Amino acid sequence: MSTDSAKPAVAVSACLLGEECTWRGGHNALPADAIARLREACELVPICPEVQGGLPTPRPPSEIVNARPASGDEGVRGTVSSCALANEDFCSADEGEALEDACLRVLTNEGKDVTAQFQAGALAALADARTAGCRFALLKEKSPSCGFGRIYDGTFSGVLVEGSGIAACMFADAGIRVFGESRVEELLAFIRQGRVRE
Ligand code: SF4
Repeated sequence: MSTDSAKPAVAVSACLLGEECTWRGGHNALPADAIARLREACELVPICPEVQGGLPTPRPPSEIVNARPASGDEGVRGTVSSCALANEDFCSADEGEALEDACLRVLTNEGKDVTAQFQAGALAALADARTAGCRFALLKEKSPSCGFGRIYDGTFSGVLVEGSGIAACMFADAGIRVFGESRVEELLAFIRQGRVRE
C-alpha cells in the first residue's frame, strides 16, 4: 500500500530524524531546517535496520568484517561481498548454509556474529520502504547497515573502504535511489524538479 500523500515517499534512517537508535543510544539528527524542508517536500518513512533486526539500543558497535575470504577473493572488501550479504535470496536461505557460503560477516567489536540480525533488519526496512512506495532513500553514511559507497573496513580503526551497508545494498538492488545525508540538498533538488518520476 503506497502512501495517500501526493508527496513522494522517502525512506530515511531514523537516527537522521533525531530518533535515539544509534549503537551509542544517541542520534545523528540533521539540522532542524533540513528536516523541516524534507517534511515539507516528502512523506518521510523512518527505518532503522539494526533495531528492526532485533538488536538492542545501545549496543556494541559492529562492522562488516572479512572473516573468511572466499577462495580467489582475498582482499575483496565492501561492494561485492557486502552486497552478497544483502542478496534477498541469500538472506532467505537456510542460515547454516548461507553462513557457510559467506566470505564476510557482521561482527561486533567483541567478536559476536550479528550477521543474521543485520540481514533480517535490512529485509524489514526494505519491506517498509516498498510498502510506502519509496523510490528514494536518505541513509546515514558509513554505517554497516545504512552506509552507501563507503563503510568502515572491519578493523574498528576508523578506516573507510569502498562498499555499502547491508540495507543500503538491498535498497539499491531493489531500485531505490540511495542518498547519504551529505547529499540532502541533491535529493531535495531531485524532488523539486519532479525527477522522482524518472
Ligand atoms: S545508521 Fe541506520 S541502523 Fe544505524 S542507527 Fe541509524 S538508522 Fe539505525
